[in-house]
Amino acid sequence: MKHIGAHVSAAGGVENAPANATEIGATAFALFTKNQRQWKAKPLSDKNIEGFRAKCEELGYGAGQILPHDSYLINLGHPEKEGLEKSRNAFLDEMQRCEQLGIDRLNFHPGSHLKKTTVKECLTTIAESVNQALDKTKGVTAVIENTAGQGTNLGYSFEQIAEIIEQVEDKSRVGVCIDTCHGFAAGYDFSTGEGYEQLWKEFEQYIGFDFLKGMHLNDAKKELGSRVDRHAPLGEGFIGIEGFERLMKDKRLDGVPMILETPEPERWKDEIKMLKDMI
Ligand SMILES: [Zn+2]
Ligand SMILES: [Zn+2]
Repeated sequence: MKHIGAHVSAAGGVENAPANATEIGATAFALFTKNQRQWKAKPLSDKNIEGFRAKCEELGYGAGQILPHDSYLINLGHPEKEGLEKSRNAFLDEMQRCEQLGIDRLNFHPGSHLKKTTVKECLTTIAESVNQALDKTKGVTAVIENTAGQGTNLGYSFEQIAEIIEQVEDKSRVGVCIDTCHGFAAGYDFSTGEGYEQLWKEFEQYIGFDFLKGMHLNDAKKELGSRVDRHAPLGEGFIGIEGFERLMKDKRLDGVPMILETPEPERWKDEIKMLKDMI
């Protein structure tokens, strides 16, 4: 069973997100549980929490169909004490929001070394940040999103993601989300049958399908291996429609939230329908 949706708006309160997902025919969705461009946020109110839980129940969104995205400001591998502390506090707050809302996973970008520390040290810092957040929460899995490797962002290779997972103490609450655009930009070729088989073979070798907790479905505006993160509507980038057909027919990817983050929200309804028709 494929759960397919998009990153929908939570404007006016998180309790509005489920209906926004239903409106576009989504069977999964992503959302921000707070303003993603600000450090501080008001705590969720009872109205937010009860409203969200009731709507999800009413509209049929179970925990495994919802994949919130954390704030873009957070850097769990920050090389400096102050930035790291701020990031860890904000990440814990987001994990706790998921707990309150009954969401079982939170997607995050691993982190950046900002040229102030080594790759190895940064990966260890990220893992330690995850350990701290998992220690203080229950029932929420920290889901590492692969990156395009733009700038000093880490987590662009399966090896790096595996290195983080290896250092996380509670393996039952760490997972991975594969963004097709990021993967393609990092050199994983979703555009050909051969590339597709090869990349999942490597995924299996370094990480394993048990850890797959979500996918972001985006076409890529830049070439294979560009290390540039620019999403395109499905079929209008270098991955192409066939790449997404392969994903839809791949049973190994069943049961995880598959989320569109393509640039034109007014097309999501059609993109979701197109994907469902490919299954
Ligand atoms: Zn992301
Ligand atoms: Zn993404």
